[in-house]
Amino acid sequence: MDKFLIAFVFFYVWYAAGIAIGYHRLLSHHSFRCAKAFEYFWILGGYLAYQGSPIWWCAMHRAHHKWVDTEKDPHSPKFGLWRGYAGWIVPHTSKFPEHINPKLQCRDLFKDPVYRFIDCGSRFGQAIWLNITFNMLFFTVCGLLLGWQVGVAGLVASYVVFQMPLIVNTCCHIPKLGYKAFTVEGDDSVNVWWLGILAVGEGWHNNHHAYPGASRAGLRPHEVDFSYMMIRLGKVLGLVTHINEPHSLRKRLNRPRRHGAIARFKRRQRSQKLSSAS
Ligand SMILES: [Zn+2]
Ligand SMILES: [Zn+2]
Repeated sequence: MDKFLIAFVFFYVWYAAGIAIGYHRLLSHHSFRCAKAFEYFWILGGYLAYQGSPIWWCAMHRAHHKWVDTEKDPHSPKFGLWRGYAGWIVPHTSKFPEHINPKLQCRDLFKDPVYRFIDCGSRFGQAIWLNITFNMLFFTVCGLLLGWQVGVAGLVASYVVFQMPLIVNTCCHIPKLGYKAFTVEGDDSVNVWWLGILAVGEGWHNNHHAYPGASRAGLRPHEVDFSYMMIRLGKVLGLVTHINEPHSLRKRLNRPRRHGAIARFKRRQRSQKLSSAS
C-alpha cells in the first residue's frame, strides 16, 4: 500500500504540473522559455492525464481567453454547468469555427514534429485513441518493471488529474465560489483556494486572467503556486532561460472582498480615535 501511495502522489504531481506548466503556461501562453527536455518532460505528464493533442488543447484555451465568458468561449459555465465542465468537448472536436480552428490559432505549435504527430492532422478521435493507447502501454510497462502497485497508481492518478482542468474551467468561473483580486471587464474568473492546491497553482485563476502571459499565478503569500516553484527550480538548474514575471500586476492587487468590511471597520475606528483625541 505504501508503494501505491508514494507512486500515486508522484504521478499526481507530475500529471497536474504537466498540464499547468507544459500545456498551459508554456505552450498556450509562452510565459517562459526552456530547454526541450524540460518542455517534453512536463508535456508527457499532461499527456499521461489524457489531455490529448497539445495543439487542440491550446487552441481551446486561447479561444477561452480571447472570448472569455461570451458565447464564443468554448467552456464558460455561464451557459450551463455541464457545458463548462465537459459538455463543450464534443462540439469542438471536428468542425472548428475560425476562432477555435487549431490550424489557424496554433501555427506556432505546428512547427514541432512531436506535437504535429500526436495531433493526428487535427482529427480529434484519432488523437484521443493514440493518447489512450500510449498511456495503456506506459502503465503496463511501469507495472512490469516497477511492480503492479506503481502501474495501478499511474492509471488511477491519470483519471483523477484528468478532472482537474475541467473543474478549474467550471468552478473558477462561478463568482460565488471564490474571490476576485482583479476586476476584468466581462470576465467572471475568481481565485478558488482549494483548486489552487489541488491543481498545483491553477486555481488562482482570476490572477491568471488578469495577466495570462505571466508564468506565476499565485501572487499573495497564501496563494501557493507549486507550478511556478517548479519553473523557478528549472531556472536554478539552467533548464529555464527566461521567466515572464507579473511585476506590474502585483501592484494592482485589489483587496479580496472578504476583507472589505474589516478594512472599513478599522478605518472607522481610526477616524473615531482621531476625532476623540482632537
Ligand atoms: Zn478561465
Ligand atoms: Zn490561460
